[in-house]
Amino acid sequence: MIYLDNAATTEPCRESAESCAEFFTRFGNPSSLHALGVDAANAVSAARKSVAASLKAEENEIYFTSCATESNNTAIFGAARKFGKRKRTIVTSAVEHPSVSEPLKELEKQGFNVIRIMPRDGVFYAEDFAAAVDDDTFLVTCMFCNNELGTLLPVEQIFKAVKRKNKQLLTHCDIVQGYMKFPIKVKTLGADMVSVSAHKVHAFKGIGALYINKSVHIPSLVYGGGQERGFRSGTESVPLIAAFGAAVDKLSPTIAERAEKTAAVAGYLKAEIARLPDSRVNSPENGSPYIVSFSLKGLRSEILLHFLEKRGIYVSSGSACSKGKKSSVLTAFGVPDEYADSTLRVSLSAENTKAEIDELLSALKDAQKELLKSN
Ligand code: PLP
Repeated sequence: MIYLDNAATTEPCRESAESCAEFFTRFGNPSSLHALGVDAANAVSAARKSVAASLKAEENEIYFTSCATESNNTAIFGAARKFGKRKRTIVTSAVEHPSVSEPLKELEKQGFNVIRIMPRDGVFYAEDFAAAVDDDTFLVTCMFCNNELGTLLPVEQIFKAVKRKNKQLLTHCDIVQGYMKFPIKVKTLGADMVSVSAHKVHAFKGIGALYINKSVHIPSLVYGGGQERGFRSGTESVPLIAAFGAAVDKLSPTIAERAEKTAAVAGYLKAEIARLPDSRVNSPENGSPYIVSFSLKGLRSEILLHFLEKRGIYVSSGSACSKGKKSSVLTAFGVPDEYADSTLRVSLSAENTKAEIDELLSALKDAQKELLKSN
């Protein structure tokens, strides 16, 4: 198997799998006062320390959630509930993941005003976000790395520029596709809230986290037993949290080295794709090396995806989250219609090799020969 769909999910690393297995048997409830409970609470607290350190945040600024989708929803609906009676405007990018764009559509139905900033020739400018902000703006939410193309948004500049215009607004960043791939410090980023997901960083599905700056208070969406310092009730999933911490501990020291290795593989892939007839590399030159989007004109994404699957090569058509729907993100980034339907997303991990890319390229050449002929 050649797995090239790491932006959809990653293979859990040995350390996270071992940690998870360990806490399936050490099964205490972190809220219990006896030794089993204390053991579980210690595991949660060690993982919180790891996630906090990875973002250069404090432990009391990290809240575990069930996934980044929940983190994004909590940040957005929480901000709307906090400010909604006085202010109505949210500024965002036009290329957010559905876990941000859908909550915003829901808020629009409730009468909020959502301003979506478009890229200009594929590039986002901080001044465009600042120009959209006024006194009525209470939230600016902008992703770090786009999940379909790997485009990096200038979040630090955007948050600086919008706060200069309106000090009171909150900033939120979905860093899911950048976490553990770039050295991200929440304070340098200027983010009041940040969402991350464990299964994108070689841990498991069903666990994520939301960073909230300790000076910021937003209302909780989940009421109950008061776990996560009263912010996110519900008994903690200790095995998944411990595994998340183990993966973060493993990946944190190797961010630069993995990025360099991946950039070499991505660079090779992009150069070779560009040599194929009727091809288009959609990802920008200066984007994340972990995501390479390209199109082969005349070959529908899904057909090509299944052709590759038969050879044991797993990729995604555009984005796993768009599930066959035409991607508004590709349109926003200016991918022409005749290429948009033929888009594949290859998303790498540092484990992928040039030899695997050679197999992909040879399969793509065969697909162009076999499938275009039969069209
Ligand atoms: N944000 C981005 C940019 C993503 O790529 C994804 C998953 O594809 C998510 C959020 C959602 O993450 P989760 O699966 O943890 O809900």
